[in-house]
Amino acid sequence: MAGRIPENILEEILSRINIVEVISEYIPLKKAGRNFRALCPFHHEKSPSFMVSPDRQIFHCFGCGESGNAFKFLMRYERMDFPEAVSLLARKAGIVLPESAKEDPRAVSLSTQLFKINELALGFYTGLLASAQGAAAKTYLLERGLTEETIKSFRLGWAPDKWDALIEFLRSKGVGLSLMEKAGLVLPKQNGGYYDRFRQRIIFPIFDIKSRVLGFGGRIMHSSDNQLAKYVNSPETPVYTKGRNLFGLNLAKEAIRQSDCAAVVEGYLDFIIPYQQGIQNLVASQGTALTEEQARLLKRYTRNVVMVYDADNAGQMAALRSLDIFIEESMEVKIVSLPQGFDPDTFVRQKGAQELKNMIENAEGLFDYKFRILKSRFNASTPEGKARISSEMLSTIGRFKDAVLKAEYLKILAQQLDVPEYSLREELGKLRDNRPQPADSPLVKKTETVINPTERLLIKIMMEETRLVDYIRQHLEPSDFQGEVTSRIVSFMFELIQQGKQIEANTLMNHFEDKDAMRCICESVFDGEVTQENREKVVDDCIRMIKNKRMVVTRQRLQEQMRRAEVSGDEVNLLRLRDEFCSLLKRSKE
Ligand code: ATP
Ligand code: MN
Repeated sequence: MAGRIPENILEEILSRINIVEVISEYIPLKKAGRNFRALCPFHHEKSPSFMVSPDRQIFHCFGCGESGNAFKFLMRYERMDFPEAVSLLARKAGIVLPESAKEDPRAVSLSTQLFKINELALGFYTGLLASAQGAAAKTYLLERGLTEETIKSFRLGWAPDKWDALIEFLRSKGVGLSLMEKAGLVLPKQNGGYYDRFRQRIIFPIFDIKSRVLGFGGRIMHSSDNQLAKYVNSPETPVYTKGRNLFGLNLAKEAIRQSDCAAVVEGYLDFIIPYQQGIQNLVASQGTALTEEQARLLKRYTRNVVMVYDADNAGQMAALRSLDIFIEESMEVKIVSLPQGFDPDTFVRQKGAQELKNMIENAEGLFDYKFRILKSRFNASTPEGKARISSEMLSTIGRFKDAVLKAEYLKILAQQLDVPEYSLREELGKLRDNRPQPADSPLVKKTETVINPTERLLIKIMMEETRLVDYIRQHLEPSDFQGEVTSRIVSFMFELIQQGKQIEANTLMNHFEDKDAMRCICESVFDGEVTQENREKVVDDCIRMIKNKRMVVTRQRLQEQMRRAEVSGDEVNLLRLRDEFCSLLKRSKE
């Protein structure tokens, strides 16, 4: 992908922006010597190990190893793809990207067009809510406790009681029916033609984290219209996939990050009313169980989730089971169940936001909560009851990644149910055998690559002083570097120097996709300084050490090959290997 946008343009963008400013827009950075420091946004930590270097224009976390340049930061933090990150920073830098650099023009233009149509439709709906036609709907919203300001900031709208109001409006803007249909705004009639999907409904726009309009929810105004569904929502479209998005996250993400907690409610109004009253670390699930993708989306902002349930939902096993996805993501999930007859909207209006805040703060952990519900449902003093309860509990416990947590919960469960721990372990074993291992389970995750410190030091020096790269190139080959990662980086640096180019940490990063390479480059940048006058001596020492290491490795390899040739009686080969071995020894004496 990096290939589509010319390298010199990427370099130009990076040279005009300042990574410190880019990252400060998202997290507070504190000056620490030459660098800046912060709590890492990519993993949970108590003391800051996330560093940003203004000199080198890169970031690196010593805790989790996440590292890169400004593009990589946006890709990781804002979940952008490479072209998106490039175009955002290009705009900041005041650089116009060549047309050819834009990604797959057809795909982009379809989603761009759909976003544009959705935005037009939203303008139509909000205009109507503000007009005489929307007066009744407006009154309804105000009566439900929404302020004028809230109606504006959530951009609520009104779809009138007509079959083709939106069609006519969009047509006047030059939008074709087939695009309206792709946006999910119109439906085909039985005998030809189309009609508006949303009619006589209050419109709740659904945004992505960049506040682009993905789709809509439409609510009827009178519950006496009960032959109609209370809500009609946009269907899945090329820009809207329900399970990938969370209502309100665009507005709540900062509050979620700051409070390090996200409360999950169900309905649009369960989001809007508490948000208006000052509880802003919220998202709405839109009435369905959360997906793995939604859990991951939340995890970018916090690892702590509180599910806020209405009394009717609170005891439902299916809802509880769906919370196991959070355990699999190593997130902590707690539960609040509201008193009978309340949802977050009515609760806040009657008892106040502070009361809900207290409940969220004192939420019960998943283990305790689930256990309590199960005990109220099954008899924990009969063998059958114990078996039912333990099997439900074990399916949650089995998902903890942390072995200590798992062992502790097993112990607690055994005590509470008064059953031997080994029997629970046995059942847990059966569960595990029956469950397919996900591809990225920790069992198959590859271990972290260890970077040889001498090799890394040379890379650091090469980045600091381009002049020395040629010198090093005269003495070493990329293959002299024993690490796969370092050898790849060095080989690329040599290539750049041969082309007469500069080597800079931040632009170097555009050429590597893998975490290991970026990590090696960034770690070496933040390594202690090598003083100017020492550099040449350090370089010579490093070269010598790398050569020695290389010699030792080659010698071992030759010895092994000679042993094998001897065993198999391959005289010719043996002689050749011995020659090679002798000349190697001679060279190493020099
Ligand atoms: P209200 O308080 O006005 O009734 P709500 O937003 O609290 O609205 P709930 O009945 O709690 O609505 O439903 C929760 C969410 O589930 C809704 O916000 C909506 O996203 C979704 N939903 C509810 N009913 C339907 C339906 N008939 N079709 C599709 N989605 C629905
Ligand atoms: Mn409600």
